[in-house]
Amino acid sequence: MAFEGLSERLQSALSKLRGKGKVSESDVKAAMREVRLALLEADVNFKVVKDFVARVSERAVGQEVMKSLTPGQQVIKVVNEELTQLMGGQQSKLDLSSKPSVIMMVGLQGAGKTTTTGKLAHHLKKQNKHPLLVAGDVYRPAAIRQLEVLGDQIGLPVFSLGDQENPVEIAERGVAQAKEEGNDVVLIDTAGRLHVDETMMDELKAIREKVEPDEILLVVDAMTGQDAVNVAESFHQEMALTGVVLTKLDGDTRGGAALSVKSVTDCPVKFAGMGEKVDALEPFHPERMASRILGMGDVLTLIEKAEANVDEEKAKDLERKMRTQQFTFDDFLEQMDQVRNMGPLDELLGMMPGMGQMKGMKNLQVDEKQLTKVEAIIRSMTREEKQHPEVINASRRKRIAAGSGTTVQDVNRLIKQFSDMKKMMKRFSSMSKGKKKKGFGG
Ligand code: GDP
Repeated sequence: MAFEGLSERLQSALSKLRGKGKVSESDVKAAMREVRLALLEADVNFKVVKDFVARVSERAVGQEVMKSLTPGQQVIKVVNEELTQLMGGQQSKLDLSSKPSVIMMVGLQGAGKTTTTGKLAHHLKKQNKHPLLVAGDVYRPAAIRQLEVLGDQIGLPVFSLGDQENPVEIAERGVAQAKEEGNDVVLIDTAGRLHVDETMMDELKAIREKVEPDEILLVVDAMTGQDAVNVAESFHQEMALTGVVLTKLDGDTRGGAALSVKSVTDCPVKFAGMGEKVDALEPFHPERMASRILGMGDVLTLIEKAEANVDEEKAKDLERKMRTQQFTFDDFLEQMDQVRNMGPLDELLGMMPGMGQMKGMKNLQVDEKQLTKVEAIIRSMTREEKQHPEVINASRRKRIAAGSGTTVQDVNRLIKQFSDMKKMMKRFSSMSKGKKKKGFGG
């Protein structure tokens, strides 16, 4: 999970302050020592750590915190605010005002440039844009084919002239085609190299001169920590980047690149790659990232994911069924599918506030195999059994277990869980009815 290691260390450093009625300067000092170590261990740039700790310490022993009724919470609030600042403060959006807007994607080989080009096009398509992808990575074998496959998958056109043509020519003609065809965004995938080198930079500059991009986005692999920051610095000096995309954040437990890139290069992170699939790209929201790191959850992203993946009508229907106790195993399966569409479950759990601190939850690994088992059991039920689980007697249980390759105990457990869940829904729905009567405002 993203930032797991850093998150754990920071939360443990701050946990001693949480809920304290009185916080002394030495309490703050001790906590800050641990925060400093946690950040250094997360591979955050040394100078960035030093400045960060100095700023937090200064504010934490100030009036605003010490005089408050909940100084421990206030220190955490300060850390949250400063982490947000570190990552750029506000969300930094793409400039898509030109018609067409030209976005040039640059980066080293293997960083995830081609994948990200596809993901970003998909993201823009969902916002009713009509992007054209331009296959300009003539250097890495198979990059052009990869982009064409991605284009097919997301239903977007790809402009390509093969790998024998000059990349400057490809970019220029790609943009010309977009103008002709009325595409409002052009995403140009360019050729990377294994290391920052002059030939690559010269080639990129030549493209930049010809197509005058509105955005130059650098794609870097977050898991490479300070190396990613150094790469960003070199590219920014040469190319005047407009933004950074951090890929592979899903596998980055440390977070050093995410926390240092903006402060070191002064170039904002605009997107984060959270997986290999084409929809695993998130706009980078510093304040939400800070909350996730501090275990305060990220409810906003969770809601956005739900809105993007869950059919509103179906959700309403489900809500009604839950309220009226008509929830069946069919509904259960459907709900499982919808949740799965939103992304890996441990990632989703990490966005729920307090999950990090809950006993036992920290090490909770959502077992996808277990879910597959549940699915197999339900799929082995007859229509009648799914709709009316009460008919499932002992011999039916045996048959279901055999059909799904599980045991009778597995089947028993699922049926028991399902019935407990229904009871809980009943309790919730009567609770919320009570609340509605009284009114929320008091
Ligand atoms: P390029 O050489 O920069 O164009 O790199 P690719 O786009 O081919 O990506 C290299 C590898 O990184 C591929 O296996 C991608 O699936 C993988 N990748 C890219 N972005 C992400 C991400 O956000 N998360 C994960 N887990 N893998 C990614």
